[in-house]
Amino acid sequence: MFRKYIPSLLLFLLFELVAITLWIAKYNIFYLLNFSYIGGCLALGTALFTAGKCYARHFVQLAVGSYMLLYLGIISCENMQIEGFWYYLFLGVFEAATIHYAVAKIFGPLLFGRGWCGYACWTAMVLDFLPYKQPKKPRKEKLGVLRYVMFVLSLAVVLSLFLMKIANLERIMFWIFLGGNTFYYIVGIVLAFVFKDNRAFCKYLCPVTVFLKPMSYFSLLRVHCDENKCIHCGKCLKVCPMNVEVNKESRKRKNGTECILCYECTKVCPTKALH
Ligand code: SF4
Ligand code: SF4
Ligand code: SF4
Repeated sequence: MFRKYIPSLLLFLLFELVAITLWIAKYNIFYLLNFSYIGGCLALGTALFTAGKCYARHFVQLAVGSYMLLYLGIISCENMQIEGFWYYLFLGVFEAATIHYAVAKIFGPLLFGRGWCGYACWTAMVLDFLPYKQPKKPRKEKLGVLRYVMFVLSLAVVLSLFLMKIANLERIMFWIFLGGNTFYYIVGIVLAFVFKDNRAFCKYLCPVTVFLKPMSYFSLLRVHCDENKCIHCGKCLKVCPMNVEVNKESRKRKNGTECILCYECTKVCPTKALH
C-alpha cells in the first residue's frame, strides 16, 4: 500500500536536498522555503496521481506555476523567463532564474525529463485548460524550427541591452517579463485554436525546449513500453498531447523528447504495455 508512494517521497527528498544545499551554500533561507514548497507540491501531486485523482496534474501545475508567476515573477520582480536566465548569466550572478533553469530545465531533465512542462510551467497551466487536450490535427513538424528563432531572439534582446549599456536594466527586465508572459499567453491561446491543439505553443514556439529536448533524451524517468504486450490498438498515440510514438521502447522513438510525463497514455493502454 505505502510502497506505491515511495517515488513521491523520493521526489520530496530530492528537492529537500537541493533546498538544504542552497540554503547552506547561499546563507539564504529563501532557498529552503522555495524548494521545500515546490518539492512538497510535486510530491503531493504525484501522490494524488498515484491515488487515481484525475485533478492531480492540474493541482500541481496551478500550485507551482502560479507561485512562480505571481510570487517570484510579479511580487519579487525576478524575471524567470529565458530572458531572465540570459540576464543573470551575463551579470555572472547565480540567482533565482539561473538556479531555476539549472534545476528545472537544464540538469533536472536528466532525471525527470520534461516534468517541468507537465507539472509546473505557468504558461502550460493555462493552455491545458483549453478544449484541445488531444491534438485534433496532424503535427506540423517543420514549424518546430521556430523555437530556435525565438531562442536566438531572446538572447539577442538581452545581449543588445547589455551592449547598449541601458540604465535601469533590472526594471526593464521586469517589464520584459510581464510583456513576454502576456505575449506567450496570447500567442499560445491563438495557436491552440488555430492548430486545434492545446500544446501547439510548446511544440513550435517555446524557446525553452532548446534546452529541454536534448537533456530529456537521456532522462532517467520515462514511459517504458513492453512491445511484446502491445497489440497496436493506437489508443496511446491518440491521447498523447505531444504526439510521442510511445508504443516504441527506444529512446529514438518519434517525438520522444516531447514527453511531458502526463501519463495519459498509460491510463488508456488495454494491455498494460506502458508503465
Ligand atoms: S514547452 Fe515551454 S511553454 Fe510548454 S510547458 Fe514546456 S516550458 Fe512551458
Ligand atoms: S501521453 Fe504518454 S507519451 Fe504522451 S506526453 Fe503523456 S506520458 Fe508522454
Ligand atoms: S495503447 Fe497499449 S496496446 Fe495500444 S498501441 Fe499503445 S502500447 Fe500498444
